[in-house]
Amino acid sequence: MPETAGPEEASGFDRTLAFTVAARNARGRLVRLGPVLNDIIAAHSYPAPIRHLLAEALVLAALLGSLLKDAEGQLTMQAQTKNGVVDLLVCDYRAGQLRGYARFDRARLDELGPNPTLHALFGDGYLAVTFDLASSSQRYQGIVPLEGDTLAEACESYFVQSEQIPTLIRVGVRSDANGCVAGGMLIQHLPEGEEGRERLHVQLDHPEWEHIQIMGGSMSQAELVDPMLDLETLIWRLFHEEREVRAERGARVVKGCRCSGEYYRSVLARFGPEERKEMRNEEGLILVDCAFCSRIFEIDLD
Ligand SMILES: [Zn+2]
Repeated sequence: MPETAGPEEASGFDRTLAFTVAARNARGRLVRLGPVLNDIIAAHSYPAPIRHLLAEALVLAALLGSLLKDAEGQLTMQAQTKNGVVDLLVCDYRAGQLRGYARFDRARLDELGPNPTLHALFGDGYLAVTFDLASSSQRYQGIVPLEGDTLAEACESYFVQSEQIPTLIRVGVRSDANGCVAGGMLIQHLPEGEEGRERLHVQLDHPEWEHIQIMGGSMSQAELVDPMLDLETLIWRLFHEEREVRAERGARVVKGCRCSGEYYRSVLARFGPEERKEMRNEEGLILVDCAFCSRIFEIDLD
C-alpha cells in the first residue's frame, strides 16, 4: 500500500487488482480507470463514439499489460483497417504507464450516428497484440480479425487463437457530465495451475473453466464502473463460494508518454543535413507532433 492513499485510490480508480482462484486453475485481473482515463482523453477533442472506443481500448491495454511479469515490458494493442472510419487505434502500457489515441475520418463518423457498431467503425480490420519483454528482448505478437461486437471480444479471440488460453473479458464504460469511468475484468484458465507462457493441450470445454466462465460472465458492466464497489468487493461477490481466492493490488496506472524534445532531437539527428533542411519551417524549426498527447514539439537542431 502506498503511504498516501488519495480518495481515488480508496475507491479503486486507476489501479489494477490481480487475483487467482487456485482450485479452479484460474487467474484474473481487474481494473477501473477514472482520472487517468479523463486525462488521456482530454488531450484530444474526440466525439463521443471515439471517446467510448478509446476508453474500452485503454481498459483492455491496462488489463493485458498487467499480465506482464517483466516490470519494464510493454504491451501494445493496435487496431487497424485499410478503409474503415477509424483507420488506426493504438494503446500501450509499460510499467503502469498508459497512453492511447485514435485516427479517424470525422465526416464519415458523423454519418454513423451515436452508437456505431465495431464493424461500422473499422470495417474489415484486425487487432494486433504485442508483448515486448524488456529483460529478454523477446517479442510475442498475435494478430486476429476485428470480429465480434466489441474490442474485448477481439481480445478474447487473441488469447484463444494466438496463445491457446481460454479467456473471458468484460468491459464497461460510463460517460456523463462528470467525465468517463471505465472498468474491466479478465479471467483466464490455466491448465493445472500453470502460470508460465508456454502451455499446451488446453481443453476449452474443461468443467473448471465452464464454472469460472459462468461466474465471471455474471459480472455486469454497471458493477465494473460503480465507484461504490471497490475491486476487492467485486471479486468477493463473484467467488465467495470458492475455497481459496487470493487478490493482490497491482500497479497504479498513470498517464505516461515517452515523447520529449530530447527524444525527437535524437531521432532527427539521425537524418542527414539535406533531409533536415527539407523538414524545417520558415523559422528554421522542425515541428514534430506526438499523436498520443496531441503535443507539438518545435525542434531547433542546428
Ligand atoms: Zn506524447
